[in-house]
Amino acid sequence: MSETENIKKLSLIVPVYFEQECIFQFIKETTAVLLTLNLDYEIVFIDDGSQDKTVELIKEKAFENSKIKLIELSYNHGKQGAVTAGIFHATGDYLLYMDPDLQDPPVEIPRFVNEIEKGYDLVFGIREEKMDSWINKLFSRIFWSTLNKFTGLKIPTGLAVMRIFNRKFAEKFKEYGEHNRFIEGMFMHIGMKRGQITIKQRERFAGTTKFNFKRKMQLAFNAIFDFSQLPLLFVVRFGLMLALTGFLALLAIIFSRVFLIEFQAGWPSIISTIIFCAGLQIFFIGIAAIYVGKIYNESKGRPLFSIKEFTNFKE
Ligand code: UDP
Ligand code: MG
Repeated sequence: MSETENIKKLSLIVPVYFEQECIFQFIKETTAVLLTLNLDYEIVFIDDGSQDKTVELIKEKAFENSKIKLIELSYNHGKQGAVTAGIFHATGDYLLYMDPDLQDPPVEIPRFVNEIEKGYDLVFGIREEKMDSWINKLFSRIFWSTLNKFTGLKIPTGLAVMRIFNRKFAEKFKEYGEHNRFIEGMFMHIGMKRGQITIKQRERFAGTTKFNFKRKMQLAFNAIFDFSQLPLLFVVRFGLMLALTGFLALLAIIFSRVFLIEFQAGWPSIISTIIFCAGLQIFFIGIAAIYVGKIYNESKGRPLFSIKEFTNFKE
């Protein structure tokens, strides 16, 4: 048996969406590092429906180097869908997921490989310090701490995008059929043997973030509804308390009227009570409706992603 047959393969999984400014630099920096490793490699780009030159530039490089592969999704699926498609089609023994914006630096790749070779199934990158505006940092701190409270997932703080996992972990991930995918949560749910290393972060190399405040909020809500029944429990408890309060108030009114004083309750109090209760009801029905909507979505059992074209994949 020759040496090469024992060589492991590393797949980089890289979702791209309007990243034309980053592609060349990303390929340059990663291949420089990958070539120093005693590993076979592939770089799997998943285009999430970019309308700029992203696809063209990747194809140009893929033509020169068959280890650079491209999966083009038919339309924008969101980062979670793109990463999922990448994990389904990557063929490596180790899969390393990173963004093309070079916030998590490729020079860290060897450390990830070293760490996973110690026998972990998943190694998270934890960033020393997030290179981001203070408002974004504040937002992500609030996001992760509420999420951990809501879901009990115990996701490590300062989680970087960059992480590596092995084939066993990837196969487990592929068994998760849910559509509303919160990948960080799913990774924690898979469990297995986890390690982590601290990495330095840089500023985004070029281009702008695709996650404005609205999209971040959407992600946060998805994550909460995906991973906990807490909103439902909250509704039940609140409803019970409200009903109890109403019942006690009623007893108090009857008691006072019969045994203590003569009085006339005003209609404004009734109207405001009605409005208050009606509002609460709509709000709570809304929460339940969100779950119903999610159930409806999942029950359709649609494919997780739709691929338009493969480049450099053997059929
Ligand atoms: N991305 C994607 N689909 C989207 C939005 C973003 O595949 O709908 C990719 C994007 O190309 C990038 C990664 O997700 O590789 C993270 O996005 P970004 O760097 O803008 O987010 P940030 O690092 O600012 O949170
Ligand atoms: Mg980024």
